Amino acid sequence: MKPALAVTKNAGEAIAYKSVNPFNGKTVKTFEELTDKQLDAAIATAEACYKTWKNKTYAERAKIVAKAASLLHERADEFAKLATLEMGKRINEARGEVEFSSNILAYYAKNAEKFLAPVKLNPTVGEAHMESSPIGVIFCVEPWNFPFYQLARIAGPHLMAGNVVMVKHAGIVPQCGIAFEKLWIDAGAPPGLYTNLLISHDQADKVVDDERIKGVALTGSVAAGQSIAAQAGKNLKVSSMELGGSDAFIVLDDADLEHTIKWAVWGRMYNTGQTCCAAKRFIVDEKIADKFLEKFQAALKALKPGDPMDEKTTLGPLSTESALIALLKQVDGAVAKGAKLLMGGKRIDRPGAFMEPSILTDIKPENPAFRDEFFGPVALFFRVKDEDAAIALANDSDFGLGGSVFTKDVARGKRVASRVETGMMFINNISWSDAELPFGGIKNSGYGRELGDMGIQQFVNKKLVRTASMEAPE
Ligand code: NAP
Repeated sequence: MKPALAVTKNAGEAIAYKSVNPFNGKTVKTFEELTDKQLDAAIATAEACYKTWKNKTYAERAKIVAKAASLLHERADEFAKLATLEMGKRINEARGEVEFSSNILAYYAKNAEKFLAPVKLNPTVGEAHMESSPIGVIFCVEPWNFPFYQLARIAGPHLMAGNVVMVKHAGIVPQCGIAFEKLWIDAGAPPGLYTNLLISHDQADKVVDDERIKGVALTGSVAAGQSIAAQAGKNLKVSSMELGGSDAFIVLDDADLEHTIKWAVWGRMYNTGQTCCAAKRFIVDEKIADKFLEKFQAALKALKPGDPMDEKTTLGPLSTESALIALLKQVDGAVAKGAKLLMGGKRIDRPGAFMEPSILTDIKPENPAFRDEFFGPVALFFRVKDEDAAIALANDSDFGLGGSVFTKDVARGKRVASRVETGMMFINNISWSDAELPFGGIKNSGYGRELGDMGIQQFVNKKLVRTASMEAPE
């Protein structure tokens, strides 16, 4: 298996796959997209691989997936530095992401056979069971904000299920995509088991159309989800969509404020606010709203911008200059429509894509900011009169990914969690993701689940097998 289907060429604005360090704006490396002929050959290799991989035992598959997990762990520093270089993630967070990605692979290597074991059914007559079999080559489109975790989330379950994967990673993290493909080669994967594709959006559509592709998974924005899901639908291909969010962070009147503020800062600022299920709308009971705001502002002001490679830095850059410009414009637009800027809202006066931690208040339902996702260090603050008002506001969203509720009364927290219309709710924490726990949303946040037992069921054929113990019809 050749390491990377990529050729380095001179920098240029039109190049889709480009490593640019957002800490200083310097272009590090650029890559050419595949030709249609190269893409066709890559799909053929993947399909050929599937024909043998599907017949491997779980133990044989686990050998390679577990090896990839251990290599990822051994090389955590090297992988982490690539993420920091290409999309500006602070190095400690990047190391954590790589270790977590390794855990995800190890988790599926260990548990896949149990998750996909035949399930006995109880028909009124005879015997029956459901069995799970792989379906083929799965095409995955992935975002830059967790450049390894997103890849582990699809590779671990789908490879262990007996499928093979082809991945179009985001244009700004080509080196991360190539490094992850090489990981599989180093782990002893057969050619075509895991393929990184440096392809255009048009080529991505053609891949979805290709009859050798049997399933499609996308994590990214609503617009990308609508485009790829439509293409998959046109081809009647099973798909899963993990899209954006505008998660509510609900603070009830009895919340422990010290505890809550720590999660509020982490929930909004982790990954410089560029997380699908980050806390984005802070919905606070008016009885403690002033105290919350005072402490929240103080904590945000204490964050110090710096080199994301430096472990002491507490505020990293956004992923790209264009992401920064778009977010600044979004904040200006919110203010032009009547919102108030309580703090921040400006670019930080230094090189790189740095933005001040920001809080917007007085956001009325007519303001586009009320419904939009803010993908960066901008908190939307809402004051509500009670628990019911908090839930109503949380549910007044086009998104439905996750959310959190803070209260000293856990039973009350659970009641609120049940009434919020999202795919995930967290009580007194927002520890979003665990290999064991299903991840995903509803409404514009997409459909399907990744991780946990559910994550491996997404692209398998659930086949009913019934054994008759009855008379044949005349
Ligand atoms: P994005 O622009 O949608 O990009 C995501 C991926 O989709 C990239 O690989 C991108 O390729 C590709 N893409 C975009 N439009 C496409 C099209 N029309 N056809 C084919 N491929 C297309 O999203 P992003 O800005 O990178 O990521 C942020 C978004 O992802 C946020 O909304 C965030 O909430 C969401 N997200 C969701 C989850 C989740 O699990 N629910 C997790 C992480 C992020 P290029 O880079 O080449 O354009």
